Amino acid sequence: MSIMVETESASLVNQYFSSDYRAARQRFLESAVKCPNFSFHEELKLDAKGPDGKDLFIDIVWLGPVDADKILIHLSATHGVEGHVGAAGQQSLVEDPIALQENTACVMVFGVNSFGYIWNRRVNENNIDVNRNLREDRESPKLYERIDSFMNPKKLMTIDEFQMQFGDATKEHGRVPIISALADGQYDFPEGMFYGGKDIGQGPQFIMSWFEKQFANRANGKDLRFLIVDVHTGLGNERGLDTLLTPITPSDAVVDFFGPAMQSAKQKKTVSEYKPLGLLTVALADKIEAVTECTLPIFRIGQEFGTVPRNQVMIGLWAENMHWHLAIRADKTPDHESEASLQLKKIFSLDDKVSQDKAIIRMRDLYKTSIDYLQVAHTLV
Ligand SMILES: [Zn+2]
Repeated sequence: MSIMVETESASLVNQYFSSDYRAARQRFLESAVKCPNFSFHEELKLDAKGPDGKDLFIDIVWLGPVDADKILIHLSATHGVEGHVGAAGQQSLVEDPIALQENTACVMVFGVNSFGYIWNRRVNENNIDVNRNLREDRESPKLYERIDSFMNPKKLMTIDEFQMQFGDATKEHGRVPIISALADGQYDFPEGMFYGGKDIGQGPQFIMSWFEKQFANRANGKDLRFLIVDVHTGLGNERGLDTLLTPITPSDAVVDFFGPAMQSAKQKKTVSEYKPLGLLTVALADKIEAVTECTLPIFRIGQEFGTVPRNQVMIGLWAENMHWHLAIRADKTPDHESEASLQLKKIFSLDDKVSQDKAIIRMRDLYKTSIDYLQVAHTLV
């Protein structure tokens, strides 16, 4: 086992990472069509454009038989700028494919939020956090109003001023309630952070309808088995290593199956201190369950890679959001290569070989385990 891992590690020299969305997309599509188990590719064109004025897409690549009963759905860039890592994982999986088992397919969704990916934002073209977007009731946490003035300042604020005001708020209300008010998702301040939107964004809408159409007329829908894996960064406990988060508490058998990365999440309940609602994977699973009437509930995994300490993530998000909206209020096109934007890209990416190698190995490991899971999922209840 250890020999295998070392051999793989030695051969991975960051070759799957690309500098930006355009380069990553081109490579991904070129490699995908050459994949021995490639079935088809579909591009969903968004209205939003990149900083280069060119079109943006959500790309769906189907590997394995189109009528497979066991289907892994693998997503990257749900949180835009976090996509550099997930896309590298997908690149590795099409460039150096792992065999799918019989009657098994993988549907890769490359660039769920390609706008955020190319503009170095976590959110989409309407400042919407895609993972707070898909819920019926759009109620904001009461405390968010208290913190919006400094979380989303209307004029330039220094990091020191921000930290002081943030400290005051946590002294007054407690750290966990403030973090939760911030990150659970809010629906009343469209320029604020973790904004869930008034309506479902175009990207999530496209994805939901695509999957609905794909599976609506499938015969033997009841026997279909699915697993959804969504790759994220910024929350894991260790740089380059992942924690496997699940919106529902998994059974012990499932935790044992996915191993230590899921065990650590279960022991600590979750690596995050909040519980967002409106996740894309949850809505997608609900939709697929409804149209297929599959009897096995669809399991969802957020593969969260650690990058930098949590407070740096928060400050980076705050600064980028402030600069973005200051530019818009001044009638300027925001600069996706401003200091704050490039800093955000750095915060949510892995730019050193050691952590990039670790992440690729873990994404490939989870892919293999996911394929195995689909074979035995019905026994793991
Ligand atoms: Zn994320």
